[in-house]
Amino acid sequence: MNDPAAALESLIEPAVAALHSARHVCVITGAGVSAESGVPTFRDALTGHWSKFNPEDLATPEAFERNPRFVWDWYESRREMIRRVEPNPGHYALAQLARRVPRLTLVTQNVDGLHQRAGSRGVLEYHGNILRDRCTVERVAASRSDASNDGLPKCAACGGLLRPDVVWFGEVIPAGPMLAAAEAAADCDVFLSIGTSSLVYPAAGLAECALDSGATVIEINPNPTDLSAAASIALGGASGVMLPRLLAALPPR
Ligand SMILES: [Zn+2]
Repeated sequence: MNDPAAALESLIEPAVAALHSARHVCVITGAGVSAESGVPTFRDALTGHWSKFNPEDLATPEAFERNPRFVWDWYESRREMIRRVEPNPGHYALAQLARRVPRLTLVTQNVDGLHQRAGSRGVLEYHGNILRDRCTVERVAASRSDASNDGLPKCAACGGLLRPDVVWFGEVIPAGPMLAAAEAAADCDVFLSIGTSSLVYPAAGLAECALDSGATVIEINPNPTDLSAAASIALGGASGVMLPRLLAALPPR
């Protein structure tokens, strides 16, 4: 088939059929889904004053230990930017898909909370959430105290220094989301890999696990990735376009 539009069309039907008969859909989303809402990747966000720094200067436990104020300045600017963006049609379509299938597990590598803002529940945040604070003493999500003697955010419960609740370079994925995601990938009968380069482990391993257990693996990405050839169906396109199309074509059960 030489007509790319017709080729894409011929892939929509089997993707919809797989979703229609699915018992458990497992979805992983990556930076591409956020980019469609205007969230730049970490590296692309290093502009202006921040352009002379590397991710390693800003997103490691060592950088934070060395200069928490500097790291907090960066994260405050990142938070401000993320508060200004909105979920896109792909986010909303995934929230609706969860209501159309018996079970859906949504795993995201994104830290911006856009899935939750679009109405998704029970999102497994692989890399944390940039809008949330975590206590460095209690190692749990925490709220801020009004009092601080040095201008740095402190834990309302114990007074300990707060940090952004994200996974930094050199840190491990939180065990809760990691185990739940692995279970879902092994259990699902349809696996959707959306807007992720499929290069970053352990997230990339989820798609492999789903393939190994016989699930239909559907990839949605504007460009081919390492997963495309192995995927059952590779839909070349933006998630904000492809997901609403799949949803619209999905018959009622
Ligand atoms: Zn605390």
